Amino acid sequence: MGSDWPAPHEGGRSSAYWSSLPEWGGPVKPAIPLKYLEAYGPAVQAQVLDLIDQGSLGDYLQSRYGEAHAARNDKALFELAVEWKNRFMRNTPPLTKVLYDSRLQALSHALGTHTTVSRVQGHRLKASREIRVAAVFREAPADFLKMVLVHELAHMKEGAHNKAFYQLCTHMAPNYFQLELDLRLYLTFLEARPAGIP
Ligand SMILES: [Zn+2]
Repeated sequence: MGSDWPAPHEGGRSSAYWSSLPEWGGPVKPAIPLKYLEAYGPAVQAQVLDLIDQGSLGDYLQSRYGEAHAARNDKALFELAVEWKNRFMRNTPPLTKVLYDSRLQALSHALGTHTTVSRVQGHRLKASREIRVAAVFREAPADFLKMVLVHELAHMKEGAHNKAFYQLCTHMAPNYFQLELDLRLYLTFLEARPAGIP
């Protein structure tokens, strides 16, 4: 993020998703540090607080992320994850389960989780690969769900957040870093609304 932030969006609220959100307003204002943005430092956080003060954080997000996704249930989410996996990570073992988890409230850094459980089935060791996505992403813009799936799929190959991990992420989503920052802005936006994250 830097000087290339766009001017507040002046178009109409065309997307059904965004028009369903209440207008920005109310007395609630988050304090520094912004918990979703701690890794970005005080300068970035101050810019974000300015956007909130001007009431334009929602407009910034809407202007870039107006597109909703169709993965509204676990079955559709599973199919989407498999589609992405087959496109970019064909050589990793199949996913066994992909689901929205309402216990993951995106409160911590857990935007999603991934687990690989190995157990003996007959004579073979069978690996179960499971991705859980925080339920808040059921209603989120398409690009943010994509970022979370890309992140968790990359963990199927790389356990740690190392260079190889992020190379895999940017292979699947070239604008991965921008998406991750903007996703954190989105969570900040949702939480700072008077109603908070639903
Ligand atoms: Zn991770």
